[in-house]
Amino acid sequence: MDKAHILIQEEVKALKLFLSLFYVIFFLSDILYYYFYPKVEMGDSDIGFPEGGLGFWMYPFMFLLLLIAIYFIKKKNIYIVKYIIFIGYIFIDFIDNIMIYYGTTKPFDSGNAVEPFLFLFSPIFVNKRYFRIVSLGIVGKYAVLGIMLHAPIVIGPIVLCVSFATIAFILLTRFQSYVCTIENMFEEAQQAEKLAVIGKMATTIAHEIRNPLTSLKGFTQMQREKHPEDVEYYNIMVQEIERMNAIVSELMVLGKPKKRHYTLHNIKDILYYVISIVEQTAAQYGITISTMFVKELPSIKCDEKQMKQVFLNIIKNAIESMPGGGNIIVEANRVHGDEVVVSVIDEGCGMEQEKIDKIGEAFYTTKENGTGLGLMVTYKILEEHQGEMEFQSRLGIGTKVNIKLPVGEVN
Ligand code: ADP
Ligand code: MG
Repeated sequence: MDKAHILIQEEVKALKLFLSLFYVIFFLSDILYYYFYPKVEMGDSDIGFPEGGLGFWMYPFMFLLLLIAIYFIKKKNIYIVKYIIFIGYIFIDFIDNIMIYYGTTKPFDSGNAVEPFLFLFSPIFVNKRYFRIVSLGIVGKYAVLGIMLHAPIVIGPIVLCVSFATIAFILLTRFQSYVCTIENMFEEAQQAEKLAVIGKMATTIAHEIRNPLTSLKGFTQMQREKHPEDVEYYNIMVQEIERMNAIVSELMVLGKPKKRHYTLHNIKDILYYVISIVEQTAAQYGITISTMFVKELPSIKCDEKQMKQVFLNIIKNAIESMPGGGNIIVEANRVHGDEVVVSVIDEGCGMEQEKIDKIGEAFYTTKENGTGLGLMVTYKILEEHQGEMEFQSRLGIGTKVNIKLPVGEVN
């Protein structure tokens, strides 16, 4: 069932409750005020509606309002119904008061128990606009009547209304915050579930694809040797197969089961290892990689393979951003005693803020042969290690990637 449909059902439930209570309270309040109370207090003489007003005609009007409300519910235009009832009531009541008191010396004495009800029940629609209209409508009615009838007595009902409005406002804000939190939790759970399914699918498919891909690559290479006249096409084929392989390898990291081998490792060893792998490729592009590690670096508890993957992805990106050569600095420092910060600083193309914001999105790449998965995987691994990654970059000047990792226990 879609969200709009569920919300409509909720509104209908709230409306049913609202309409039944509104009419019951409205009529009961009138009966008590105009019949029961005068009869008990003053004998039979004062029974009935005040002179000059709509009197009994009030009821056909209110009944008409109910018919209009039912018409709109039937027409599936339900969100408007509460406004119709409220504005209709305020309008009828206002006319009634003017007819009774305007131009007379009668002391102003009006109000229906339905008004506190309107305030206190306004949160059931979980709608701030409706609450504002109710508050302004009722307070405004008394204010305008007070001015028109020169009746300072309206201050009393106004103060009462403001108190009710405060209570209703607190309830409404709580309701809204509660609904919001539940909605967010639900969305997060859905997202996590989606990722888990994607991860599982990715690993299964990746496993299935890898083997045929390897033989495909082998045969293509063989064909390349057999047909040197088409070497150009075969090179492209091999390159594309390698790209598929890269995508598949990176996707596999996503779906790995949660159980990792967290053991204590020296971050320096991991960094030296990664640098040794990429050094040759870097040299081909005229890139040197220098290291600046502080002497006393604490060991970190991590999954060694994954940590290597993290720095491999980041240093590879640094190399790929410097087609014209240059120097990459890999720094490792200890901060505040409980964090190790590794920085990879390149002199590459750099990025504008817009690009930095997109980094880590699946398949976001600016490279012709890129997968756009490297940093997404990196973020995921770091998240599992309770680490963080941050980018500082200037277009045309270079990029600094800071990776923070906690020292000590990792759950
Ligand atoms: P890929 O390397 O396959 O493109 P990544 O997720 O590793 O995917 O990186 C995504 C994008 O982020 C890259 O295409 C590039 O535009 C940008 N990027 C990442 N690191 C750097 C860097 N050091 N310098 C400039 N751009 C970078
Ligand atoms: Mg990359």
